[in-house]
Amino acid sequence: MDFLKLGIIGYPLTHSLSPLLHAELMRGLGLEGEYAKYELPPEQVRTRLHGMKQQGVRGLNVTIPHKVAVMQAMDWLSPEAELAGAVNTIVFEPDPAGGVRLHGHNTDIGGFMRSLPSPVREALPHSHVLILGAGGSARAVMTGLIEAHTQAITFAVRNPAKALSITSDGQLIKRTLNSPTQLNLVTLDNLSALSGFAGLVNTTPVGMYPQIEACPIPSELLDSLPENAWVYDLIYRPLETRLLQAASQRNLFRVNGLDMLIYQGICSFELWWGQSVPTPLVSPLRERLQKELPP
Ligand code: NAP
Repeated sequence: MDFLKLGIIGYPLTHSLSPLLHAELMRGLGLEGEYAKYELPPEQVRTRLHGMKQQGVRGLNVTIPHKVAVMQAMDWLSPEAELAGAVNTIVFEPDPAGGVRLHGHNTDIGGFMRSLPSPVREALPHSHVLILGAGGSARAVMTGLIEAHTQAITFAVRNPAKALSITSDGQLIKRTLNSPTQLNLVTLDNLSALSGFAGLVNTTPVGMYPQIEACPIPSELLDSLPENAWVYDLIYRPLETRLLQAASQRNLFRVNGLDMLIYQGICSFELWWGQSVPTPLVSPLRERLQKELPP
């Protein structure tokens, strides 16, 4: 297997765990490569991508704030990247004429879906899921849930006018995938009882370090969730947010954001290296990454 030059573009790129994640996967599979951090302001992205083609870069992850803007620089988009309207992984694909084509993928969708425990995933066609927030990660979560024919999704947001585009794009995704998922939008302040929801996903940054005391909804609201409901927080810094602490007090099933981070990384890795990551590598990888994170 060739030595692969890989990396991540974002701005800023202070705390990214991706270099460690990919170094661990390469070590675990005996592969040789490098994974560099490229901190690029938006105006430099296009030129640098072009330069990276000449330098033999083979793959990149894309993070905030470039996930949407970078789509315009792609020569091809995967159906999922097109549906979600965002790219988080670029494959530099050699073409027969000796050039390099940029292929844009979205592995946040697969990362989120692979991180769902099987009983949760299997119950989605009968589940109504509440998503807090309607930004970039909410779109990836929505796309995965629609693909899985989730019964219904309700977005709870602070500014419904700003969030209208997520439900209209969701309608398009539903039609494209021929999925029955119902989509609704409500204001966070109007959330009262959660008894009709099978699960809740926080996609807002509320509760993320350093604002670790914050909770995206009043914690008493969790009392109204059914006792077999699950609560998923996309945040992994800290691993146990205030929201997950409140869910723990109710003894609800909980998932933090670390597994989504791990699985989106694994999906990118598999695209670049053309081989799958064996399941036994996942637990040691999770343990290694956990050491870098506050509890
Ligand atoms: P984003 O595109 O900026 O979207 C954030 C959403 O949260 C927007 O809908 C925003 O509403 C809402 N929001 C922000 N502050 C809020 C507040 N105080 N009250 C209510 N709503 C608020 O960000 P993103 O890329 O989706 O990321 C969101 C979170 O997910 C971050 O914590 C990120 O670290 C995490 N994440 C984790 C993974 C993973 O692999 N685990 C992957 C992606 C993202 P407005 O539009 O009104 O501002």
